[in-house]
Amino acid sequence: MSDYSRFYPLVSVQDPELGAILDLEVWRQSSTLQLIASENFASKAVLEAAGSVLTNKYAEGYPRKRYYGGNQFIDRVEELARTRLKELFGADHANVQPHAGANANAAVYLALLKPGDTVLAMRLDQGGHLTHGSPVNFSGQLYNFVSYGVTPAGPEGERIDLENLYQLAREHRPRLIVVGATAYTRVIDVEPLRRIADEVGAYLMFDAAHVAGLIAAGVYPSPVGSSKSGKNIGADVVTFTTHKTMRGPRGGAILCTEELSASIDKAVFPGLQGGPLEHIIAAKAVAFKEASTPEFVKYQKAVIANAQSLASALADQGFRLVSGGTDTHMIVADMRNFDKELTGKEAQEVLDRAGITCNRNQIPYDPRSPFVTSGLRFGTPAETTAGMGRAEMAYIAELIGQVLRNRADEAAVSQVAEEVTLLCSKFPPPFMQ
Ligand SMILES: *Cc1c(COP(=O)(O)O)cnc(C)c1O
Repeated sequence: MSDYSRFYPLVSVQDPELGAILDLEVWRQSSTLQLIASENFASKAVLEAAGSVLTNKYAEGYPRKRYYGGNQFIDRVEELARTRLKELFGADHANVQPHAGANANAAVYLALLKPGDTVLAMRLDQGGHLTHGSPVNFSGQLYNFVSYGVTPAGPEGERIDLENLYQLAREHRPRLIVVGATAYTRVIDVEPLRRIADEVGAYLMFDAAHVAGLIAAGVYPSPVGSSKSGKNIGADVVTFTTHKTMRGPRGGAILCTEELSASIDKAVFPGLQGGPLEHIIAAKAVAFKEASTPEFVKYQKAVIANAQSLASALADQGFRLVSGGTDTHMIVADMRNFDKELTGKEAQEVLDRAGITCNRNQIPYDPRSPFVTSGLRFGTPAETTAGMGRAEMAYIAELIGQVLRNRADEAAVSQVAEEVTLLCSKFPPPFMQ
């Protein structure tokens, strides 16, 4: 391992104990494959803003409505982030304060629901997120979640079951319908959902945590609605994370119609959070600027092209792909055809030993538990940022097949690990460049 103290010279000297751990993480991120669909490599400019002096400032409230003095420059930072975000998505209103995607969702629920209200959202074992009503999450404990799923496997199968969603909406009359997922590889069209929400008198929230970067680049249809000019044909609220395909700092954001702007802002602060993380908001502003460039569009096109290459190469290795493939940055692979003994849990562990980082995931109607699973989820945002292309994706699928087929043979696993190190050395992440 090399000496990475140049990335944090003061920490290395003043706190060598922590410095040594940071060294290890720099080494891990730059010498193993990052295929977790929810991860990315933020730019050096994003890292710089996130590490700035803005962390020193208390700024409870909103620009020009703060509870502390000295916010004249902080106001400009947050205003810049809000304006850039609104322009990027053509939204009526933006809130850039949520500390994370989960907080953004919590704020929406706080704004639109009362405890006990009914919400319709996607089943967690078919791609929904914890904040979409899991019994171990506040959402499932405070609200009455009813869930829809995907159609059975088959040609054009494993897509959101709109017929089922419509029946459930008519039967349960939810106050809110939540769409968007954490493990769903197909485009979600907002139009039929808007019609269903209108028919049953529900609000529509689109959780774009994963796909926000794709939407910003125009390579995924925008679900962002507006109440400014007549009838709203999109979602009332769109939440997202800024660190997944959006490639910014770890955080969340909310877009909403003019009509809901005051209640959403009130829910974020003082409803849910205290002082905003203005250093992170500054880093969000940097990321939103980056996301408005032609380079970002090119990047997101490459993310999808790479995901499709990786998908077809994984299919060649004998994996069944959930929904047959992908329209996005993400792939969910069913292990059972490849090897019916192999679980997602074991596959994730073997791949980790070979330096291929991904996560186990349930597949729709999975016979195995969420802890064991029959699937693996892969994503291309991070390695596409590092510069990998379709040829590398095909090679990675081969390495995945090779290591999983020979998982009992330690020498074979080490052989793949060496090939992974060599590959990664040719595609350093931006912080190394
Ligand atoms: C990642 C994700 C979230 C939560 O984001 P955090 O920043 O981890 O809180 C919410 N919803 C969906 C669909 C996600 O994929």
